[in-house]
Amino acid sequence: MDVRAQISMVFHLDKCIGCHTCSVACKNIWTDRKGSEYMWWNNVETKPGTGFPTRWEDQEKYRGGWELCDGKPQLKSTSKSKSLTDIFHHPAQPTMDDYYEPWTYDYQNLFNAPEGDDQPTARPLSMVTGEPINIEAGPNWDDDLGGSPVYAANDPNLAALSPEQRRQLFAVERLVMFYLPRICNHCLNAGCVAACPSGALHKRGEDGIVLIDQARCRGWRACIAACPYKKTFYNWQTGKSEKCILCFPRLETGQAPACFHSCVGRIRYLGVLLYDADRIEETARKADEELIEAQRSMILDPFDPLVLEAARRGGIHESVIEAAQKSPVYQFVKVWKIALAPHIEYRTLPMLFYVPPLSPVLSSKASGVLKNETESLFHEVDNARAPLEYLARLFGAGHSGKVRYALKKQMAVRAHRRAVTVGDLDRATADRMLCEADCTTEEAEAIFKLTALCTFEDRFVIPPAHREMAIEMLEDPQEHKGAVGFGFVQGPKRGA
Ligand code: SF4
Ligand code: SF4
Repeated sequence: MDVRAQISMVFHLDKCIGCHTCSVACKNIWTDRKGSEYMWWNNVETKPGTGFPTRWEDQEKYRGGWELCDGKPQLKSTSKSKSLTDIFHHPAQPTMDDYYEPWTYDYQNLFNAPEGDDQPTARPLSMVTGEPINIEAGPNWDDDLGGSPVYAANDPNLAALSPEQRRQLFAVERLVMFYLPRICNHCLNAGCVAACPSGALHKRGEDGIVLIDQARCRGWRACIAACPYKKTFYNWQTGKSEKCILCFPRLETGQAPACFHSCVGRIRYLGVLLYDADRIEETARKADEELIEAQRSMILDPFDPLVLEAARRGGIHESVIEAAQKSPVYQFVKVWKIALAPHIEYRTLPMLFYVPPLSPVLSSKASGVLKNETESLFHEVDNARAPLEYLARLFGAGHSGKVRYALKKQMAVRAHRRAVTVGDLDRATADRMLCEADCTTEEAEAIFKLTALCTFEDRFVIPPAHREMAIEMLEDPQEHKGAVGFGFVQGPKRGA
């Protein structure tokens, strides 16, 4: 057992209000420079929708992530024989049209326009050419267009739905949408790290943050092709690639990343997970339907004496172990099993997990009075307005079992709290729902507290930084090319 520590994240989708404060906080700190105008290390998408870059989930087009060849994970975007031919032009790279042409406005015209009959306007100007442009795409172009035939209907995940389900999803009275905030998942089997011909990407040994060494990057952009989440970006000004750094300078001083700190809906949680690096390759080889459970079992119990012994042997500091024991992420992912990795079938083993969204509570209005029908207040999970098959494509590798489990448990927590606070749902019904959802009253209370009554300290359990113990600063990344990171004493085995 090779125990490693990873700073991991949970985003609770029921709480996201789509305000984009997170994106703006990140933009202001990290990507407001020349060459990074189009970059959004944090972006928030409306689902169903096409996202940023458009249809990023379509791996037939973008060829990101890993696929199993003879039972072994291989990068889809490249191979030993293709890496030379693709190095100057990779046909599956996203283009400017897939992102959008960044623009600004001619603000000066508002002040300098000669006096006339009309109000002056600020026309959009391309930030690439400086010329006026017609805006045809943007980082969140399908914002709130839940039922739009152009954007929502082109969501690749809708392939899982029958024509009837699609029709129902887009029927006006059943329209449903939710927000999907996205950052780099700081994966365990990161495609970006494995694909880089220059060995410029690495996963920090002490906390698992995936970084691009700007001095080593040669701008080949293999990381962009290999990341199935399209979370590395090419800076045309510096000629290097860039990505989310999980605000490591903030983490090292005990502060939450900017997008976490600023999150208005308080949907974000951050904490340490201990995992067994020896099992990365074995996990990435599993069949789609086994991936969620396999990744969960790689995540280790921070109270287990055997794990603690191996962690100490591997040089993990006591304060990091203590943080792992208090980690909110561990509760959501491993104990309650209600947070799931996005598109785990890409096999990069993401370390960002989402609590899938429930459908809204049903109310009806009769004679001007809003009525809550307790009988049908909570949807049956299998008949939810956001179809289970759709959520299963996003969070269950196309299999609905684990997603259904997470939704049923959340629904039972809702029912339990309804019985406690409003009282119009009888105790016996709430208890039955809890029992069917594999949830005790104590667990329901704990989920409720961490979801609805959590403090800043509950949400962000950040271990003190121990840069003095980080060995990768002394090592040559080229020696560790093809391994997950170079903070590992021995590179863990993984695909390719
Ligand atoms: S999401 Fe994973 S594969 Fe993509 S940039 Fe981040 S670590 Fe790399
Ligand atoms: S700041 Fe929080 S609530 Fe607002 S869009 Fe971002 S993740 Fe959602």
